[in-house]
Amino acid sequence: MGKGGSRLGAGRPGWRGKTEHCRSLDVRRFASANMLRTGMWSWQWRDAVTGEEVASIGVIGQTYSVVLAYTAGGEAIRTRVPIVRTDCGFGGSRPWFACPSCSRRVALLFLRSRHFACRHCHRLSYGSQAADLCGRAWRRQRKIEARLGPDWRRPPHMHLKTYERLLKAILACERQRDAWLSGAVARLMGGLEALQKRFPNLIGVSD
Ligand SMILES: [Zn+2]
Repeated sequence: MGKGGSRLGAGRPGWRGKTEHCRSLDVRRFASANMLRTGMWSWQWRDAVTGEEVASIGVIGQTYSVVLAYTAGGEAIRTRVPIVRTDCGFGGSRPWFACPSCSRRVALLFLRSRHFACRHCHRLSYGSQAADLCGRAWRRQRKIEARLGPDWRRPPHMHLKTYERLLKAILACERQRDAWLSGAVARLMGGLEALQKRFPNLIGVSD
């Protein structure tokens, strides 16, 4: 993730982009971007497909914590997140976030309702994260499709390279949704089977 962290430059830290759909921070990425030290940094989220920056926050590195600085809904928010380290042998250590809400030691913090906290505090399940991904893939695809002509045709002014890139991005969105849907269907079928085993006489599935 070479591009994730960068020195806080001219840009004012704050939210750019409209949605705050479950953005996450990974302490391992902070570590590999060398942001767990004193300094002012910024963190950007990029669109997985187009690589465009969709949001960013300011990160103020302190000795045993980071301060997340951002604005959400017009409100300037500062959240201090302690960094704890566990010994991982060979003289090295592994960093963790201490969740600002419950102090649990976690690798990931998620943004929901303007605040960063761990998965447990936000009551996020992996399923809802997957559903989120699916919804995002749809929205991303609709945005890209708006730039193309009917039936994904190339608008006359568009460079061929741009067009090819957008088509690839659309296909990636479709693949992402397919992957989620096949997982969702498998879960549903698994649930039905379990129910049928428990209540063989109650559920009549006919076709
Ligand atoms: Zn928590």
